[in-house]
Amino acid sequence: MGKKLTEMAEESSIPVADELAKLSILRGVGTETISDLFDQCSVRMLKSGETLLAAGRPNRKMFLILSGRLSVHLDSKKSKPVALLQAGQTVGEMSVLDGSPASAFVVAAESTRLIEVNEETFWRLVNASHEFAKNLLFLLAQRIRANNVTLSESARLQSQFERDALFDPLTGLNNRRWLEARLPRLIKRFRHSGQSLSVLMIDVDHFKRFNDTYGHLAGDIVLSALGQALMEQLRPTDLSVRYGGEEFVVILPSADLAGARIAAERLRTAVSTTPIVTHLEATLPSVTISIGIAQLSGDEDAASVLGRADVALYRAKNLGRNRVET
Ligand code: GH3
Ligand code: MG
Ligand code: MG
Repeated sequence: MGKKLTEMAEESSIPVADELAKLSILRGVGTETISDLFDQCSVRMLKSGETLLAAGRPNRKMFLILSGRLSVHLDSKKSKPVALLQAGQTVGEMSVLDGSPASAFVVAAESTRLIEVNEETFWRLVNASHEFAKNLLFLLAQRIRANNVTLSESARLQSQFERDALFDPLTGLNNRRWLEARLPRLIKRFRHSGQSLSVLMIDVDHFKRFNDTYGHLAGDIVLSALGQALMEQLRPTDLSVRYGGEEFVVILPSADLAGARIAAERLRTAVSTTPIVTHLEATLPSVTISIGIAQLSGDEDAASVLGRADVALYRAKNLGRNRVET
C-alpha cells in the first residue's frame, strides 16, 4: 500500500499540485473536491517492468499517472506494446465503470508514480463533480474513437493479407492458391453453358542454367518479364497464374484446342524473341518456354485437366523444348 497523497505532498519536494493540474481527468474539478481526493487516495510507486494490471484479472481501481510511463500490451507482458500512457493520463477506469476484468497488460515502462483511486472514491467523484463526469465521458469517447481506428486498420490489414494470399508479388499474377479456388467454379460455369475451355501449362526451358549463368536476380527479371508477356500476348479475359517457381498456367475461356494452340504459339514466339533487359539496363539473351495444352473434356475436374496439360508439357520438353504440344 502506498502513502497518502497528503503525507506525500508534505514530505516531498515534488510539486504534487503541479502534477495534479496535468491530469486531464481532473480538468475543471474544484480544488475542494481535489483535496477530498487527496485524503482518500494513496500514491503508488512502480519500478520499471512492474505489472500494474494483467489481462483477465479483476481490477477495482482507476490509476492517475503523475510521472513516468506505462506500456499497454494485449497478448502478454512480453508482446509488443500497443500504446504508451504518459503523465496526465489515466488507466483502469473501464473496469471500475463496468466491473469487468482488465482487458490488457499494463506495465511500468520506467519508474512511475500513480494515484490510486478506489471504486468508492471514484463514484464519489462522479457524484460530486460534473466536471469529473464530463472528463470521464470525454475520455471514454476518445477510447472508442481509438478502438474504431484500430478496428478499421486491422480490417484494412486483413484485406491486404487476403489480397497478398492470392497474388504473386514478383509477377503481379494470381497464384496457385487462387487458381485452385477459382478453376473448379470456372469449369462448372463453362460446362453448364456448353462452351469450351482450354488450359496452358508453361515452363521456362533450362531455367536453372539461366540462373547459374546470370544470377538469381536476372532469373527473377525473366519471371517478371514473362508475367508481362502473358498480360500483353493474351486476351484480358484469359487468366494467367504463376503456378510454381518457373511454371505458369493460363486458362483460356471459350478456346478449343486449335484456338489455344494459336495463343500458345504467339506467346512462345514472343518470349523467344524478346531479349531480357536487367535493372542495370544490360541486355541478356531471351529465354524459351515449353507449353502443354489440354482442352476440358467430358466431366473431368480441374486436377485432371491440369494433369493432362502437364503431361503435354513434358512431351514438349522431351521433344526438344521451345515448343507447344497437346
Ligand atoms: P527444364 O527445361 O527441364 O524445365 O529445366 P529447368 O532448369 O528449367 O528445370 P528445373 O526444374 O531443373 O529448374 C527450375 C529452376 O527454376 C530451378 C530454380 O532455381 C529456378 N526457380 C524457381 N523459382 C524461381 C524464382 O522465383 N526465381 C528464380 N530466379 N529462379 C527460380
Ligand atoms: Mg519446372
Ligand atoms: Mg524449367
